[in-house]
Amino acid sequence: MEDRLNELRAEALARVAAATDEAALRAVDKDYNGKEGAVTLLLASVPGLPPAERPVVGKGANVLKRDIQGAIAARKEALEQAAVEAERSGAGFDATLPGAPQSRGSLHPLTQVRREVEAIFTSMGYAVLDGPEVELDYYNFQALNIPADHPAREMQDTFYCDREGRLVMRTQTSPVQIRAMERLAPPFRVIAPGRVFRNEEQDATHEHTFHQVEGLVVGEDITVGHLSGVLKGFLRRFFLRELEVRLRPGYFPFVEPGFELDIRCPFCDDGCRVCKHTRWVEFCGCGMVHPRVLDAGGVDPEAWTGFAFGFGLDRLVMLRYGIDDIRHFMGGDLRFLEQF
Ligand SMILES: [Zn+2]
Repeated sequence: MEDRLNELRAEALARVAAATDEAALRAVDKDYNGKEGAVTLLLASVPGLPPAERPVVGKGANVLKRDIQGAIAARKEALEQAAVEAERSGAGFDATLPGAPQSRGSLHPLTQVRREVEAIFTSMGYAVLDGPEVELDYYNFQALNIPADHPAREMQDTFYCDREGRLVMRTQTSPVQIRAMERLAPPFRVIAPGRVFRNEEQDATHEHTFHQVEGLVVGEDITVGHLSGVLKGFLRRFFLRELEVRLRPGYFPFVEPGFELDIRCPFCDDGCRVCKHTRWVEFCGCGMVHPRVLDAGGVDPEAWTGFAFGFGLDRLVMLRYGIDDIRHFMGGDLRFLEQF
């Protein structure tokens, strides 16, 4: 039996000494001290041995077990030390190898297109304005000719920020019209791009957070002709071609008369999924600023007229790139974003 112990000791310690990584050391531990390990089995056999041999073998096996564990721990530390030394010595380091590539981010498609829209309007003499996203009910509704009991409020599922209903997450960029009139003396032309919020059921074309671009021009003798000319000019520069447009009567409380402006579908000649086979795509709501809205902004409706428009930035990006689901924008999926 003592021969067997010596044999196991020599074999195990040789394997420890030859091990070059942690996995090999774990294997040695398992083969000798594991549940089915050689030393473990030897210990288990002790009760069946002749009485004289029991203490010798029992003690010898226990010492061997400790010695193997000690050798494994020492070898492990030596390997770790060697790895640290190797790294410090710089062996195997090649300063001429190319570095690990850094992936670069890019601007969100909404940001890219917003900047493009701003550049086009700026070149036409428009100032770019900003407005608060948490807005007073007064600016979001009342000053825009939408009093408390007005049915138009039902068209927009509003997030209210307080119990009194004084503060709302703005449902449109139109409140910037009032803020612009309060700040600027006519004549002026401005656009106001920004985020808006509605408690909408989400689907391929609706999100709770989306983006609009508001436009407002106030001056002398401004007409629907100016409105249509500006929007056509913008579309031509954005899509880099002449797109047929049409004005349909549309209702918005803050304009009179109000219109919906449709553009000829940029994707087809005879109907497709994007235009729902109508060949026309709704682009924006617009119209001549309602005298009550001018009045609310402190602009004399007898002396000045103006037009206003508002279009969806998300929709514009979707039209340009043929994106079929608005939820991609806020989805945070890099596979989508990396395409821009
Ligand atoms: Zn189409």
